[in-house]
Amino acid sequence: MGIKLTSKDYMDYILLITKKIESEGEYITGLDAATGDGDHWTNINSGFQKLVAVYDELSALPISDMLKKIGINLMSAVGGSSGVLYGSAYIAAAKVMESKECLQLDDIADLLEAMLKAIMERGNARPGHKTMVDALHPAVNALKNAISNGKSEKESLEEMKTAALTGAAATRDMQSIRGRASYRSDKGVGHLDPGAVTMSYQLECLTDFIVKL
Ligand code: ADP
Ligand code: MG
Repeated sequence: MGIKLTSKDYMDYILLITKKIESEGEYITGLDAATGDGDHWTNINSGFQKLVAVYDELSALPISDMLKKIGINLMSAVGGSSGVLYGSAYIAAAKVMESKECLQLDDIADLLEAMLKAIMERGNARPGHKTMVDALHPAVNALKNAISNGKSEKESLEEMKTAALTGAAATRDMQSIRGRASYRSDKGVGHLDPGAVTMSYQLECLTDFIVKL
């Protein structure tokens, strides 16, 4: 396949995930209402709408500058914990992608790993704490393993997507250690973590977008 994403491609993926997020409003709001304060969809949707509004500007930037601007926009437009976490994630990704002219599959793995590290550091979260990390961590591992096992680019991405969706689904049985669900006496057990679900949507859309290119 020989993936080579430009800034415009990445922003086209942003358009795709924005549509997906837009269409899941009731569902995601319901998830955050069950274990948190009900604002996760409003927060994340505002952030992606902001990115759509600056599509032309960001598409014309070098990869690293585009990622940094995504981070700055998300930091300011997304409220709640997720705004700071996504902002830090994209700013960390921008740092590791300095001087890249396009994103190849290895770069995408490095970019996602940088995001994962930034989110875990900023939120002091580990896998199993019932957060967005529980979708991103298995996805990064699956992608890195598939690449090092010589799987095709398509297979590697599909394994990443499956790991993200499976990881998000696994938050249902977890006891919350970080985030608002941890304040509840039941620790959110029996409910999906909304941030893990929206993270899995992003990895799903990224896969679907690249595979169709
Ligand atoms: P808030 O919790 O401030 O209302 P949101 O509702 O936008 O923010 O986002 C909630 C999501 O953020 C959670 O479902 C969880 O996935 C993620 N999250 C919250 N706190 C943390 C943390 N400390 N580390 C990692 N992720 C977190
Ligand atoms: Mg919330």
